[in-house]
Order: sequence, then C-alpha cells, then structure tokens
Amino acid sequence: MYNLGDTTYKQQPKFMSYELVDEILDKTKQYILRYKKKEFSFIFHGGEPLLIDKKFYSYFIKKANKLNQQLSDVIFKYDIQTNGVLIDKSSCSLFRELNIYPSVSVDGTKKAHDMYRKDHKGKGSYDRVFKSVQILKEHIGYADTVCVINVEEDPQYIYNSFKDMNVNSVNFLIPDFTHDTFPFDKTKTIMADWLIQLFDLWIEDSERYQIPMFAGLINRLLGTTEHTNNESTVLVIETNGEIEAIDSLKACGHGFTKTGMNINTHNFSDIKKSPLGKLYFEDSTTKLNSKCLSCPIMEICQGGRLVHRFKKENGFDNVSVYCKDLIKFTAYIQNKLMILFPDLFDNEKVDQMKSEEIWSFLDRQELGSSRYKSDLEYFATYGK
Ligand code: SF4
Repeated sequence: MYNLGDTTYKQQPKFMSYELVDEILDKTKQYILRYKKKEFSFIFHGGEPLLIDKKFYSYFIKKANKLNQQLSDVIFKYDIQTNGVLIDKSSCSLFRELNIYPSVSVDGTKKAHDMYRKDHKGKGSYDRVFKSVQILKEHIGYADTVCVINVEEDPQYIYNSFKDMNVNSVNFLIPDFTHDTFPFDKTKTIMADWLIQLFDLWIEDSERYQIPMFAGLINRLLGTTEHTNNESTVLVIETNGEIEAIDSLKACGHGFTKTGMNINTHNFSDIKKSPLGKLYFEDSTTKLNSKCLSCPIMEICQGGRLVHRFKKENGFDNVSVYCKDLIKFTAYIQNKLMILFPDLFDNEKVDQMKSEEIWSFLDRQELGSSRYKSDLEYFATYGK
C-alpha cells in the first residue's frame, strides 16, 4: 500500500502466512453468507505483491475456488496491482491459470516515472515496465494500468505515452492530498484544467483506451451506475491480519487507519464498529458538511473522496480540496456531452452547467451548520 507518511507498515511481516489466508477465506465465507453477496473481489496489493513466491497465489486461489464451488452463485474475482518490474512469461502463465487480472502502476511518462520509481542502483524502471506491458499484451491479450496524476506533466505527453505503450486502460487517480498537505492554490483549478485537456484528447481519439474515471463520471451524469467505481467497498487486510479501511486514508496521519481489529479475532463487518470504518463504509456519501449538502451537484460528486475532505483542525467537516476542480470538470463534461450527444439529453430539461454560478452559490453558504458537524469534527483528534 502507499504509505503516505504512515510508517506502521514497518512493524508488519513482509509476507502473509498461509494460516492467515485460511482465516481470510473462512471470514469471506461467513461474510458472503451473512450478507448474501453475489460478487466478491480479492485484490493483491503491496508493497510489491509479485515479490512473494508464486505458490502463495496457487494456494490462495485454489482454496478460494473450492469455497466458490460451495457458493456457486457468487462471482469471485482476483486482481493484482503491481509495479510491473517482475512481470515475465511465467507471471503471465500464473495470471492465465488462476484468472488473475493484473494492473500495472505507471507514473505517466518515462521522465516522471523514472524520477519516482528507481531500482536499488538508482536506475529508473520505465523501460522495464514498458517491456512488461508488451509481455502482458502478448501473453494474456490486454494491459491495464494505473497512473497517479502529476499535473506538472503535459496531459498530451502522458496521453501519448500510454498510447505508445499500447495499453487497454489507464485508471488515472487524483493524488491523495488532504487540506493540510494540498500543494496547489485552492482558488485556482489546476487539476480540472489538466483533466479537461486529457478528456478532450481522449474523446476526440477514435482509438482511445479506456479511462475508468471518465466513464464513471459520464455514467453518473447520464444517470447510470454502470462502471461507476465506489471506493467505499475496499477493506484492507494487512500481512499481520489487521483490518483497516482503504489505504488512501493513511494520508490523514500516522496510524489513522488502525482499528485494533485483526482478522483472527474479528469479522469483516466488525470494521464498521470503528468510527472511521463506519464513516468510510456506511456514511461517506451522506454524512457531509453543510456546503456539500447544499451543493447543486452533490448527487454527482457526493463530497468527492473522503481523504480529500480531511483537515487536522476539523476532521472531515470540509468540502474536498479539489472542490473547485470537481465543479469545473463536471460542468465541462456535462456541457460537452450535451454538444456531442444532444439526443441523450433531448427529453430532459437539462441546462448548460455553469461552474462560476455554482462556485458563487457555495461561497455564500456557511460551513459548519451541518447536523453532522460534531460527528465529522470528531476525526480531528482521531488516531492520536
Ligand atoms: S463539488 Fe464541492 S461542495 Fe459540491 S459535493 Fe463536491 S466537494 Fe462538496
């Protein structure tokens, strides 16, 4: 997992034991039966998950598949998020044999990637990862990637560098800043301007690769939930068995995601007994500050991601650090869709969205009168 200033991972074992795998699958069964789930995904994350012996995946997935035979109406999925450096033909055989869907982390262009991702000799790993993507294309037929946005990189270069890689999809992620760490001027819209340039390149390209962020927003604007990713479904199990909410919340502070719960002694759903687990899994899109609750695009934005609302001074009682960007980008996409696909909006009374009007409306709203104020402010002292 990204450590994001949280160094608790240093106290954990490097790899997960087989006993822990047994426990996880036992708790998975209990959870699926209790909540009548129809789909369940396992995501292998790191550190670097391909460092562990491949036998680990055979053990895990063969055992999970046996469980799946008992729960035959449930769809099990297996994903792995890797830095790509260790991918070779034998990894592809493993992915094919066990139905694991890999996704490779790439930091945009070679220049940006090599600045942050170096091997122990200080050499950037872009060329190796580029090769890994080609191996995936050749041996499993597709290559999906994840890229944390770096606004200092030109969107055109980034878009083209993924085209050169011949990827099938790029899951662009907005960086996990809080109000205490946000490095940009909040009166400006650097992220929205960057995303708008990327969107224009993407929508005008007849051979575009998939960008789930764009597909998700378009679907929300059109009122469908297909391909819409709700992050509030990810439970993390650390290598020592500790259970936590999603790793992005580590950006809120050292130890912030710690619950004191362990898969050996707790069920998955116990996470909701911790205040952070309850907020993240149950209330993150409804328990909002007063500005978000009155926001004209609340149903689309839902307050943005939880981590982006955090401030040490008042916990989660804030709009997103990217609020202005989210408004500008959402308005741009809606207006663009209305121009490109007028038929989709024919029967609806939908006006062009004006971000300036929404900004000005929100500027006039008081922050702090939400009925959830004290619940959200509670997290100002959380984890300390
Ligand atoms: S656009 Fe801003 S105010 Fe509106 S829901 Fe999103 S974060 Fe809240």
